[in-house]
Amino acid sequence: MLVTGRADRGLTPHVCSIGAAGPSLTGRGLQSPPMQNAGTAILESQTMNAPLQLPALEEIRAFEAEMIAIRRRIHEHPELAYEEHATADLVAECLQRWGYEVHRGLGVTGVVGTLKAGTGTRRIGLRADMDALPIKEASGKPWASKVLGKMHACGHDGHTAMLLAAARHLAATRRFDGILHLVFQPAEEGYGGARKMLEDGFLDLFPCDAMFGMHNAPGKPAGKFNALAGYAMASSDTVVIKVKGTGGHGAMPHHAADPVVAASSMVMALQTVVSRNVPPLQMGIVTVGAFLAGDAPNVIPGEAELRLTVRAFKPEVRDLLQKRITEIAHTQAAVFGATAEVDYQRRYPMLYNHPKETAFCEQVVREWLGDEGLFSDEPVTGSEDFSFFLEKVPGCYVFLGNGVGEQGGCMVHNPGYDFNDACLSTGASYWVQLAQACLKK
Ligand SMILES: [Zn+2]
Ligand SMILES: [Zn+2]
Repeated sequence: MLVTGRADRGLTPHVCSIGAAGPSLTGRGLQSPPMQNAGTAILESQTMNAPLQLPALEEIRAFEAEMIAIRRRIHEHPELAYEEHATADLVAECLQRWGYEVHRGLGVTGVVGTLKAGTGTRRIGLRADMDALPIKEASGKPWASKVLGKMHACGHDGHTAMLLAAARHLAATRRFDGILHLVFQPAEEGYGGARKMLEDGFLDLFPCDAMFGMHNAPGKPAGKFNALAGYAMASSDTVVIKVKGTGGHGAMPHHAADPVVAASSMVMALQTVVSRNVPPLQMGIVTVGAFLAGDAPNVIPGEAELRLTVRAFKPEVRDLLQKRITEIAHTQAAVFGATAEVDYQRRYPMLYNHPKETAFCEQVVREWLGDEGLFSDEPVTGSEDFSFFLEKVPGCYVFLGNGVGEQGGCMVHNPGYDFNDACLSTGASYWVQLAQACLKK
């Protein structure tokens, strides 16, 4: 789910401060939810504006309104990759206030909060992402982005708020035995914040026996979880192919080596990689998303450029795609008397959910909500940089349904998207129960 585009980097949002919701954050459909027992059944929403009552721990429900207010504040002040200073300030302040040891600056703006309880030596990491996207928001929500051209269109505001809510509860109760690292990472959207944190020594400073992540899933039932063992998300690589020919007069093509024709043939030949080279029971994606060449109808340009996104679910398929795309680029260019320069950028690896940890996550949900708390799904062809953590440490990345239709169904990276606040306490309750189960007293 890589998104690039123009960003208004000159705008600096006002720093989010912590505290109770201001008047603008309450009374607009955010009704005070009733107290509930853990594991309560899902209740129907009373009005279109009232959030659904989804299952949550009673103690988390008690401060739900405050956490929703924090989520909406983060939403109002979106920050792009490695610019998450105000968000990181807010996160660090919260964690410090609740008694966490806070480490800042890993991956530029990353924040890690550590909490120990008991004498246990087992260590786990729970991770949320903090960055927004260069999208102009069109959700029409009262808490819509106040920064033109930037938007929390992937729900990382919700991820941050869910992990903060869990942090608050875990610190207040300390019903675990071991070491808890809460990881708030920057730059998930295409800039590899997880990889940067690892390069900066995250695992040396905060060794983890297991790590866990969570992402909201629009179009899936609100408050239900999916944990898919094995390769659950695709790798994402970007390829830029520069085709260099010999420019000339459009009326005298025999004096030129036309890179437009060579690149066109290349686009068609690339279609055979998946159909003829990838084994039929495997998957691969080769998309030519951009074809840039020429200006004038009567001029043969000297150069053409193709930009591709390439996806796979298996390392061997990923390698095969790279090999064949590179070969086709060079050979197709040569056929037409041109040459090709191939810039093959390996970006995010495929996300591998380790079977044991995935079964454990499922069990946590099942013991809490029964089978009803889970939804089944297929692997996702989008990608996610939590995969870098899962290359180093066993763990699992789950999806939390964001709702369907008007209530959370708008897809991520869409200008109309918004995180479904009804899921906040449910997600936080999952984090708490997962941490307590992993670090059982
Ligand atoms: Zn995204
Ligand atoms: Zn995301």
